[in-house]
Amino acid sequence: MKPMNLASPLHKVRGVGVRTAEQFALAGLHTVGDLITFLPRRHEDFSEVVAIADIRPGKMTIKARCEKISTRPVRRGLRLTTATLADDSGKLQAVWFNQPYRTSQLADGSEEFYFSGEFEFNYNRYQLTNPSVEKVKDMPVQTDRILPVYPAIKGLKSQLVRKILAELRPLITMLPESLPKSVIAKERLVARSDALLGMHFPEGASDIERARERLAFEELFQLLLASQLNKRENAKLTGWHIPFEQPVVAGFVKKLPFDLTNAQRKAAWEIIQDFEREVPMNRLLQGDVGSGKTVVAGLAVRQAASAGLQTAVIAPTEILASQHAETLRDLLEPLGVRVGLLTGSVKGKTRQLLYENIKNGSVDIVVGTHALIQKSVEFHSLGFVVVDEQHRFGVAQRQELLKKSDHMPHMLAMTATPIPRSLALTVYGELDVSILNERPKGRKPIKTKIWSPNSRAQLYELVDKEIVAGRQTYVICSLIDDSPDNDTRSVEAEFKRLRGSVFKHRRIGLLHGRLKPEEKSAVMTDFSEGKLDILVSTTVVEVGVDVPNATTMIIEDADTFGLAQLHQLRGRVGRSSHQSYCFLMMSDSSKPSERLREVERSNDGFYLAEVDLRLRGPGEIYGRAQHGALNLQVATLADTRLIARAQRSAKAFVESGDELAGYPQLAEQVQKYQRMTTLS
Ligand code: ADP
Ligand code: MG
Repeated sequence: MKPMNLASPLHKVRGVGVRTAEQFALAGLHTVGDLITFLPRRHEDFSEVVAIADIRPGKMTIKARCEKISTRPVRRGLRLTTATLADDSGKLQAVWFNQPYRTSQLADGSEEFYFSGEFEFNYNRYQLTNPSVEKVKDMPVQTDRILPVYPAIKGLKSQLVRKILAELRPLITMLPESLPKSVIAKERLVARSDALLGMHFPEGASDIERARERLAFEELFQLLLASQLNKRENAKLTGWHIPFEQPVVAGFVKKLPFDLTNAQRKAAWEIIQDFEREVPMNRLLQGDVGSGKTVVAGLAVRQAASAGLQTAVIAPTEILASQHAETLRDLLEPLGVRVGLLTGSVKGKTRQLLYENIKNGSVDIVVGTHALIQKSVEFHSLGFVVVDEQHRFGVAQRQELLKKSDHMPHMLAMTATPIPRSLALTVYGELDVSILNERPKGRKPIKTKIWSPNSRAQLYELVDKEIVAGRQTYVICSLIDDSPDNDTRSVEAEFKRLRGSVFKHRRIGLLHGRLKPEEKSAVMTDFSEGKLDILVSTTVVEVGVDVPNATTMIIEDADTFGLAQLHQLRGRVGRSSHQSYCFLMMSDSSKPSERLREVERSNDGFYLAEVDLRLRGPGEIYGRAQHGALNLQVATLADTRLIARAQRSAKAFVESGDELAGYPQLAEQVQKYQRMTTLS
């Protein structure tokens, strides 16, 4: 065999033909190195050789000779090979389907073979079904060991992968280490070569366990090191120094119609301290819907404005931008802070004037959507950027905005999607996190109820009572208009139905994403001013919308929504001291899912986020773009202890002054992650 290295194409390996190589290539496996790091999905233990006399149902390996073997057609397309196998303790029948070559393979009755297969009840008797067969005198690859089972690749069986890896075994043994020695020693990890041998050729369960630990640790270490390094890069930047002015902050707080919660106080203090440093802030403010993030941001904006710096507040939709502008106006204009709103619907002269005011500094805060990022928007002194619902905002867009300032502005990202701790660390590792885990005083928890469509009439009676009491209601549908091949309710149809029947006597509005921005904001204004009793809407009301008098929400076809989305939607109610209700209307009378039952049971966004992570997995929740790129093969984000260990090591590595340059393989991976993660 010619010398082979990790970069050698797979077809250079003995036993890999051009066709096989093509099939591997389709699965993204091109080189020897690719296949070596192609890890088994699971393992099957065939390592224990049992005597035929002791055999029990299940996966078994026996060491036997073949006494008799024959193949016969059973029916069209099915040929059955039957053999009698014998060892010193007894005899046993084995069968293979469509493997007539077994007859010649096993013809020599004096040769000893390993047979690994499932001993099961089949065709009216116990027999060994489709066992793999190898000569005892050869090094067994497919029998008599713990067998790795590889992810399915079209046309390629695990057997073949095992055979090729057996060819590559000497190379795996010599693989260089990729983690720093100090980390290996401190964490008591097995070497990289041992870990890969442990995955592909384990001799016991503990080999697999140690291998997994090492490989999972390595993935997490790379990811967390990338965050640490990004953080260090950020720390080298000079930001704006915004001094803490106690009277300014006290003046802001005094004007509020309520007391801040302790959580709000703490978050605000964390921001103020960041402002005082020379380093630009990079902070994530996480808080369940209704926890009062806007006020915290408002306080920070106030402090920035008094230092003569402008703030940009970016929201994902026009509705939200308008709402934020209004809230911030209420909070800040009495204090002399000037607020501007820049959205797609601000046009012509008004827009030009706003541009000028932003440029000459006579506007202190600009609230807007993506429109804020356009080239034509020039700031006088942009010092602070607030991004609402940051997971909807691309990395590139944020960086565009950050370019609009001589110094890197401070950044506060706000999200109402609580992220489990393990994820916050790995996905947003370079952000400092403030958490609002406390609801403002006087709020009653929302009562949530799964509702069957059979009892619609009773529900409408309940809703009408609330309307009579002066409250308002949301009805949420997932579709805008009816589609013929779907019986999911649409807003259009539901709006017409409610207006034409049960709620004839009530004022009903319609809101969805296809309305013109003016129409949307007109409907929202009517609803928030109490001119509408019922708002039939799609999920455009999902984030941030604040109408405290709305106390009831019906979510139609609730079973078609995700858990996080249901919780977000529900957050539109429960925003005042009145009791609020959320009704999860099933699309039919089948049994509600675990997801719905959890939403019914708990109001705690952080708890529900953990449940969601468990039920769906991180890929589903955090999107392919972000999470797919994480490309974790072995580690799972549910493994909080390993994450904590990797975090400690990554920190220690950065603090030790050791440089990535000394570890080329590690550097390559880490740099990939560094480019991908949020802000660098
Ligand atoms: P979030 O953005 O976190 O969902 P908001 O900032 O929109 O929440 O606040 C929701 C509502 O609660 C607003 O009407 C706000 O004025 C009010 N609010 C905020 N903080 C408090 C508090 N400490 N006490 C009472 N009400 C508060
Ligand atoms: Mg909000």
